[in-house]
Amino acid sequence: MLKLYTAANLPEAYIVFHLLGQAGIEARVFNEHALGGLGEIPFTHAYPEVWVMEEADMPRAREVVAGYEKLPDHIDVRCAACRETNPANFQVCWNCGEPI
Ligand SMILES: [Zn+2]
Repeated sequence: MLKLYTAANLPEAYIVFHLLGQAGIEARVFNEHALGGLGEIPFTHAYPEVWVMEEADMPRAREVVAGYEKLPDHIDVRCAACRETNPANFQVCWNCGEPI
């Protein structure tokens, strides 16, 4: 198991997680409850992390992240399935995983 990505926030971690899932890559999100503890725990441990289960998937997983980071943002869109607000660069809803 290898760390792929350190996200700025939990929605970002989950969008990467869902994109990896769509690519058939098994991954896990860690530190998902850490943000509430900011100030009580070391700063660098407060960000959610996405880890890839299989080392062989890492090259493709990095391509997924690179593609995600290239997308434009700044415009919020609302998920048709659960009504959660998502940044426009999200291809799938961070909350429910449905395509936006
Ligand atoms: Zn949704």
